[in-house]
Amino acid sequence: MTDLQGLRAIVTGGASGIGLATARLLAERGARVAVLDLDPGDAPLGFTADVSDDASVRAAVAAAAGALGGIDVLVNNAGIGAAGTVADNDDAQWHRVLDVNVLGIVRTTRAALPHLRASAHAAIVNTCSIAATAGLPQRALYSASKGAVLSLTLAMAADHVREGIRVNCVNPGTVDTPWVGRLLDAADDPAAERAALNARQPTGRLVSAQEVAAAIAYLASPAAASTTGTALAVDGGMQGLRLRPA
Ligand code: NAD
Repeated sequence: MTDLQGLRAIVTGGASGIGLATARLLAERGARVAVLDLDPGDAPLGFTADVSDDASVRAAVAAAAGALGGIDVLVNNAGIGAAGTVADNDDAQWHRVLDVNVLGIVRTTRAALPHLRASAHAAIVNTCSIAATAGLPQRALYSASKGAVLSLTLAMAADHVREGIRVNCVNPGTVDTPWVGRLLDAADDPAAERAALNARQPTGRLVSAQEVAAAIAYLASPAAASTTGTALAVDGGMQGLRLRPA
C-alpha cells in the first residue's frame, strides 16, 4: 500500500539525516528521487540549491522536474536549528531561520506547484517538529519557525485540496541525525549527554531517521489518498504521553 512505483519525488535537504533516509526509502519503494541541497553530495540525481535563495530554488526545481519528467511528491525537509530564548537571538538570526525553515518551503512549493498540478498523485510532506506545539525551553526561534510550518501545512492543504494536491507534515521528536550528533559533540561529555537524552525519551531511545522517513513515505504514497492537513508525530511518545517520573 505504500508503493511509490513510478512517482517522481523531490527531497530538499536530502543529503543528510532525515532527508537522506527519506530519499533512500522513496527510491527503495520505486520512486525516482531528486535531492536538492546546499551540497547534494553523491546523490544520483542531486541539484545544488539554497532554499533561502528564490532564483536558486527555481533553477533547481526546474532542472529536477526536467530530469524526472515531472513532480508528484515534494518533501520540504531542509531546515536549520537555533537555540536560546527571545533574549538570545538577534533580528538577523530570526530572519535567517525563518527564511530557511518557513520561506524555504514557500519558495520550493511555489516552484513545484505547476508540476504538482499536472500530477495524478500529488503530495507535499513538510518536515515540521514537535517544537511547533510542545513549548520547549530554549528554542523560541526554532519553535516559532516550526509553528509557522504547521500553520502553513494546514493552509496549503486547504488551498490545494480541490486541485488534488495533498499536504501533510511530520512532527519528529529528537532524531538521531548528524544535526543532533553535532549538538552532542559540543557537550562536555558527549556520551553522558547522549545517555541523558535517551533517558528523556518515553521509549528510552532517540527516534531514527529511517522511522521519520517511513512516515514521510506513507504520507507521500497513494495509500494516504484521503489524508491531508494532518501532522503525524514520530516522536517516541514525547508529545502524546504524560508519563509519571520513574
Ligand atoms: P541535518 O542537518 O542532518 O540535515 C539537514 C540538511 O538540510 C543538510 O543536508 C543541509 O545541507 C540541508 N540544508 C540546510 N540548509 C539548507 C538550505 N538553505 N538549502 C538547502 N538545503 C539546506 O538535519 P536533520 O536532523 O536531518 O533535519 C532535517 C529536518 O528535520 C529539519 O527541517 C529539522 O528542523 C527537522 N527536525 C529534526 C529533528 C532532529 O532531532 N534531528 C527533530 C525535529 C525536526
